[in-house]
Amino acid sequence: MRTCRESHELSWRTYNPGMSCLFCRIIAGEILGSRVYEDEALLAFDDIHPQAPMHVLIVPRLHVPMLNALDSSHDALVGSMIRRAAAIAKGRGFDESGYRTVFNCNAQAGQTVFHIHLHVLGGRPMAWPPG
Ligand code: 5GP
Ligand code: ZN
Repeated sequence: MRTCRESHELSWRTYNPGMSCLFCRIIAGEILGSRVYEDEALLAFDDIHPQAPMHVLIVPRLHVPMLNALDSSHDALVGSMIRRAAAIAKGRGFDESGYRTVFNCNAQAGQTVFHIHLHVLGGRPMAWPPG
């Protein structure tokens, strides 16, 4: 079991203090969030403006600004984000009822924080197509 201090040291390895990235600051522990999961590569925390009873954001500790910046070196990382989304949803009891995962990319899709993040939403019916 890592101590809080050790996990913050881990996160500092991928944090660039010159970068004004909100999610890098949450990862580094500068801004406190409601953390629901963390490991060496990922952090998951509750969205500050939840759009459903469950609204978790899964972010890599590595700063990647958007999906367009992904390459094959990120494949395992992105796979782990998606598998973590499924695990968190199952842990909240939404695996049978259903849940939604969303990556927004760029302005027209609604991306506002330019550090990739997977939204995991559940606990209410979801409309399709999305707005
Ligand atoms: P995007 O619009 O980029 O896909 O998603 C960004 C998400 O980050 C939004 O759902 C927004 O509510 C959330 N968010 C913005 N600022 C904060 C914050 O300071 N803390 C947390 N936990 N979530 C935030
Ligand atoms: Zn970042």
